[in-house]
This record gives sequence, C-alpha cells and structure tokens, in this order.
Amino acid sequence: MKKGHCQEKCSVCEQRSYQGIHICDIYICENCEREIVCSDVTDEFYKYYLQKLRKLKHSLLNIS
Ligand SMILES: [Zn+2]
Repeated sequence: MKKGHCQEKCSVCEQRSYQGIHICDIYICENCEREIVCSDVTDEFYKYYLQKLRKLKHSLLNIS
C-alpha cells in the first residue's frame, strides 16, 4: 500500500497524529506512546489503555 498524507487516528486518545506506532493493527500516537512508556503499570492511564486495546481486539476479531 502507498503511504499517503492522511493522519492516522490514535486508538487511545482518538486524536489524529502523524507520529505514532503500530501494535498489530492498533495505532498509538506519539503522545500516548510516551504516556504509556512513562506510566507505571498500576497507573490509571495504563489501565485505560489496556481496556481500549481489549475492546479494539474484540472489534477487530468481529470484523475479520
Ligand atoms: Zn493518542
């Protein structure tokens, strides 16, 4: 696939960003990635992030 200029939507904060990482089919923006890296495992954000990933995984499995 060609690389376009469209921004991808972050799976965590749902904001569009050019800079980010992919974990499987999930896209995470630079800000959220930084948050996760800096987060403690018990941190609220990390819990929120895991919930999001779980939900996403379910929806991805349902589609495919
Ligand atoms: Zn984000």
